[in-house]
Amino acid sequence: MKDSFGRNITYLRISVTDRCNLRCTYCMPEEGIDELQHSDLLTFEEIADFVKCAVSKGITKVRLTGGEPLVRKGIVGLVSMISEVEGIEDLSMTTNAVLLKQFAVPLREAGLQRLNISLDSVDRGNYARITRRDSLPAVFEGIDEAIACGYDRIKLNCVVERDRNEPDAFGVAAYAKKKGLDVRFIRTMNLDTGEFWVVDGGIGGDCSICNRIRLSARGDVLPCLFSDIGFSVRELGSCEAIRRAVDSKPKKGTLSRTHEFYNVGG
Ligand code: SF4
Repeated sequence: MKDSFGRNITYLRISVTDRCNLRCTYCMPEEGIDELQHSDLLTFEEIADFVKCAVSKGITKVRLTGGEPLVRKGIVGLVSMISEVEGIEDLSMTTNAVLLKQFAVPLREAGLQRLNISLDSVDRGNYARITRRDSLPAVFEGIDEAIACGYDRIKLNCVVERDRNEPDAFGVAAYAKKKGLDVRFIRTMNLDTGEFWVVDGGIGGDCSICNRIRLSARGDVLPCLFSDIGFSVRELGSCEAIRRAVDSKPKKGTLSRTHEFYNVGG
């Protein structure tokens, strides 16, 4: 499906929860958030139905995000339901890998193909300062488990203040090289002020070729991260919500006063 600027929309990012087991300083307040009630979250059946409709309209790439998707109970079952939808060429997940050691094999067996792992530092002290959790050893174990069970591709997402020439970014790049992983650098974004940049090592943030829509944790279809436009799946139904989102996709992002990274999946 094409939007009104001729961009081909083939990529769907799904936030399956607003909850997370980290408290990254650039994403979530230390005290946490007013988490969505379980009844506010789309059920797995609603998400699978949504994906079926999205694929029938031209979506071929699906990414599961959060919050942290691995804290959503039954996540392996959801991956299995989505991987059965015919027409998906690329099914991946963005995770902070804190629980990955436990989930790497079952997710792979359920049909997950690729992983993007959030890792901003390989220094234990800095990692704990950024995430407000001392979880780096668990993350390393999770990454090793994922490498061992043969995902098609594992990429590290490293959030930076400005660019890849920062000490923590150098550390992550060296670790990625040692483990044979890809790495990309994501400059810290600000939804309120509309500050964002093209991802270093990716295409995210380049509005001219933007190919994505999002499904938020509470079930809104969002044509753009840096906009407040959204259409409720529960009110309109999946196909109508997708149609309206794609038809109203802005030429470029501006800012968002209603989204948070933890409930739209970045
Ligand atoms: S700001 Fe919006 S249009 Fe631009 S790349 Fe991000 S999602 Fe796409």
